[in-house]
Amino acid sequence: MEKNDLIEVLIEDVSLDGKGIARYNGIVIFVPFAAVGDKLIVKILKVKKDYAFGKTEKILKKSLHRINVDCDSYYKCGGCVFRHISYDEELRIKSKFVKDSLNKFAGITNFNVSDIIGAKDINHYRNKAQVPVRYNRDQKIISGFFSPHSHNVVECLDCKLHPKEFDKIIFEIKKWMQFYKIVPYDETANTGLLRHIYLRYAKSTNEIMVCLVINGESIPCKDILVRNLTGKFENIKSICLNINRKSTNVILGDKNKVLFGEDFIQDILCDTRFNISPLSFYQINHDQTEIMYDIAKNMLNLKNTDNVLDLYCGIGTIGLTMALDINKLLGIEVIKQAVENAIKNSEINNIRNSDFICGDVVEEIDYISSYIKNVNTIIIDPPRKGCDGRLIDTIMKISPEKILYISCNPCTWARDLKILCKQSYNLRSVVPIDLFPRTGHVEVVCLLSKLKSDKHINVELEMDKLDLTAEKSKATYADIEKLC
Ligand code: SAH
Repeated sequence: MEKNDLIEVLIEDVSLDGKGIARYNGIVIFVPFAAVGDKLIVKILKVKKDYAFGKTEKILKKSLHRINVDCDSYYKCGGCVFRHISYDEELRIKSKFVKDSLNKFAGITNFNVSDIIGAKDINHYRNKAQVPVRYNRDQKIISGFFSPHSHNVVECLDCKLHPKEFDKIIFEIKKWMQFYKIVPYDETANTGLLRHIYLRYAKSTNEIMVCLVINGESIPCKDILVRNLTGKFENIKSICLNINRKSTNVILGDKNKVLFGEDFIQDILCDTRFNISPLSFYQINHDQTEIMYDIAKNMLNLKNTDNVLDLYCGIGTIGLTMALDINKLLGIEVIKQAVENAIKNSEINNIRNSDFICGDVVEEIDYISSYIKNVNTIIIDPPRKGCDGRLIDTIMKISPEKILYISCNPCTWARDLKILCKQSYNLRSVVPIDLFPRTGHVEVVCLLSKLKSDKHINVELEMDKLDLTAEKSKATYADIEKLC
């Protein structure tokens, strides 16, 4: 197989990042925007040792899963990857990905994973947008999203993922920029002022936060902007500047300045109120998060004697929605503003059995776990890279009865499960849930419980057997990166 070859293929499966998978003479070919059952003429773009990338030249026979694409930016933007196929098919792909990850990276083949929980609303569900603002070649101010693997902005004026009101706010901000000659950021020269328009929406209260990420300390004509925005959008409760003067891909800087209102908006999740600051993590799909937290709570079967450690706790959402059912809650989180939010959030909800500590869970959990005695439940909700090995060692030492693991990356989740299950935990329940419809992401929530001594030998034997047969389960980080 060589670059520019034209070959006929049948799409057999679709990866989590939306690429069709075909086989040709033993070589796997990835084809974007394809669907299972498509018969295609594919042009080969790149050939690696045992796989290749191609693009569709001609559709010979259309898959039954194909639907009409309803977004003009879809083929350039990279935000969505499933807009050309039905939602049912997307859910099947996501569900399979979770099962395959469990098999490949944890070596667990015979586990009954629950049906994936799909979303009722698959459009306009995202409560957060970080929209880059740049000049195009004609010096027109454009906003949209970076195209995949690049920093070229694909203009998008009506994103199907975030609330429609965001687009109206972005339009107003760009009008203000044009009129007052506010220069957008130029990342090659690290010049210009406005880098990103960062918006957040609290679904339960309808509150909006507008945050301008700037390469400077302040903006000219800010009173006019504040007046325009708050006059047109009554539900804007916070307008902030985020200062980011570094030449970096990281969107947000460390410092915020309030131009209007407070430095937070408030949302309600599972009957609990949460203040959310610009730098704090907050789940982007409100309704699916509520469902996920209910599932998590049911899985844990909480008792008023439970002492719970909420690791990677953010603004305290998971622990605080459970706090009334338990004895004591301790959350740990590395971002200072998020911890400040979490402490305030316990106060505004009148929760008195919680504490939050700012620190790196890996470095500090040993010391922190001595803070509350008899921890019997640990909740882990790490970022995409999963848990550090040292953290897992410490969790083993604490030896809680129950571990609830929530993950946005099934590959690292399964890698971590492998260690936990090999030592002294039994996988009880796995529920995939779609927090990110139309995009190449899926969330998973699972419960592990400590092995009882009478069952210990059986389960250990089973795991050993799996280890011998499932050679593929010894996944390296390189494997995981490839799969993701
Ligand atoms: N449980 C929260 C947040 C989950 S996102 C929720 O559901 O809303 C993961 C969180 O882990 C983020 O808030 C991030 O700031 C935090 N984090 C990342 N690395 C960390 C570390 N090493 N120690 C502590 N917190 C960390």
